[in-house]
Amino acid sequence: MADGADLVQSAIIGDLRAAFDASTVLTGADIDARYHTDMAGIPVAPPLAVMRPRSTEEVSKFLKMCHAARVPVTTQGGMTGLVRATMPMPGEIVLSMERMTAIEEVDTGGGVVITQTGVPLQRLQERVAQDGFMFPLDLGARGSCTIGGNISTNAGGNRVIRYGMTRDLVLGLEAVLADGTVLKGVRKYIKNNTGVDLKQLFVGTEGTLGVVTRAALRIFPAPAEQQVALCALPSFDSVRALLALARGRLAGDLTAFEVMWNEYYRLTTTLVQGVAAPLPANHPFYVLLESSGSDAERTRSDVENLLEHALESGIILDATIASSGAAAAAIWTIRDSSVELGRALGPRVGFDISLAIDKMEAFAVEINQRLKKIDQDAYGIVFGHAGDGNLHVIATYSPPLDRTEEVTKLVYGITGEFGGSISAEHGIGILKRPYLKLSRTEEEIETMRTLKRALDPHGILNPGRIFTV
Ligand SMILES: Cc1cc2nc3c(=O)[nH]c(=O)nc-3n(C[C@H](O)[C@H](O)[C@H](O)COP(=O)(O)OP(=O)(O)OC[C@H]3O[C@@H](n4cnc5c(N)ncnc54)[C@H](O)[C@@H]3O)c2cc1C
Repeated sequence: MADGADLVQSAIIGDLRAAFDASTVLTGADIDARYHTDMAGIPVAPPLAVMRPRSTEEVSKFLKMCHAARVPVTTQGGMTGLVRATMPMPGEIVLSMERMTAIEEVDTGGGVVITQTGVPLQRLQERVAQDGFMFPLDLGARGSCTIGGNISTNAGGNRVIRYGMTRDLVLGLEAVLADGTVLKGVRKYIKNNTGVDLKQLFVGTEGTLGVVTRAALRIFPAPAEQQVALCALPSFDSVRALLALARGRLAGDLTAFEVMWNEYYRLTTTLVQGVAAPLPANHPFYVLLESSGSDAERTRSDVENLLEHALESGIILDATIASSGAAAAAIWTIRDSSVELGRALGPRVGFDISLAIDKMEAFAVEINQRLKKIDQDAYGIVFGHAGDGNLHVIATYSPPLDRTEEVTKLVYGITGEFGGSISAEHGIGILKRPYLKLSRTEEEIETMRTLKRALDPHGILNPGRIFTV
């Protein structure tokens, strides 16, 4: 005999089929494995159904039905979040944003693009580029990640040092609450002091408070010139000195400052196919520096002068400036190949943490020393957005034991000791939930729960992600 949950599940599927066309509701064998497989290729059980709405109205109608039936939903963008937030749990329906990809308006006068949120980041970048503009958010997963995922994780990426996080690029949002209520906040202006800034509820909250369906985002005139340089440095003190120098000399033109410890640079340029090493791989640190300006001549000479000065004063040991777009892309490929590097290594755990720049060197040393106490062959590969206080760590260890939990506890423990944040970019999802308390106080987490209960009283949106209620 079917139990209560089975009856609710078959009832909602029947109701959804009756309310939407067949291409919108996928069930059974029509559910492709990609809706329940993570980036590592590991599948979980298929969801109850996959919903593929085309409009905000359809999202609203769908959520209203799930809210009434108390059926949980997990929203999927490009599924590149890496914290298992989008993997459906038993009994969940997947809400895929893959058909909500319309870029509705590019307003070059106002510096705004209005878009549905299922659009991949790269497609939006390319569309505004056609009008001579840039959407500054940029990250390695650009081809797959979506604007909705970027907003929901408050994505950072490569140009935060100049343009801020996704939060700083969002002018207005349209979001659908758990009960189907639509909040129409797609506004095209920066200033709006009319009470609670509701859009912030949906930025970085990983789809737990609502589904973001449309957004008004800031765009900027594309720079006339972009200079990309790779520098080799003798110490982390030099990395900090170069950052201070670049901030002073390039000011608003400094659009990226990425640091790579030797292991990251050396292993990526030797193990990842197609990644070349423009500088020898024997230096302690490497920095990728990008400068973007409206005056091509000045941008070029500013970077040349900066590097000349840094060389003369011993801050850098060697440097190369990309001489073409292809050479610049090749330098960026080194920094963007972390996933590929991970795949080329043995057992490992990846981290995305924040801490003050003056603590980064000691943090990396501590990680390596304490990893060795777990396993003599273990080591940490460190790299990241130094200018934003954000480091990525790939902690490797030797087989056959699965040391994921041990290594995770160790790295987050050290992050806590250094006063850092356990998630700089990717969010908490399911994977980091047990460690949230290392970065947020009990009172803060309880306040998050209060918001969740108020906006989603039946707990149907991404339940169990970030925290349990
Ligand atoms: C190679 C690589 C490089 C990366 N580099 C960076 C980086 O530099 N900076 C950075 O910040 N991140 C980075 N990431 C992480 C990831 O790309 C970002 O978190 C990205 O913003 C997620 O977008 P997505 O569409 O894939 O979201 P998903 O993974 O599909 O979803 C992420 C979360 O958002 C929710 N969600 C998705 N769409 C919506 C919506 N429309 N409404 C409500 N909730 C929604 C999901 O339920 C989930 O909780 C990287 C990932 C990879 C694989």
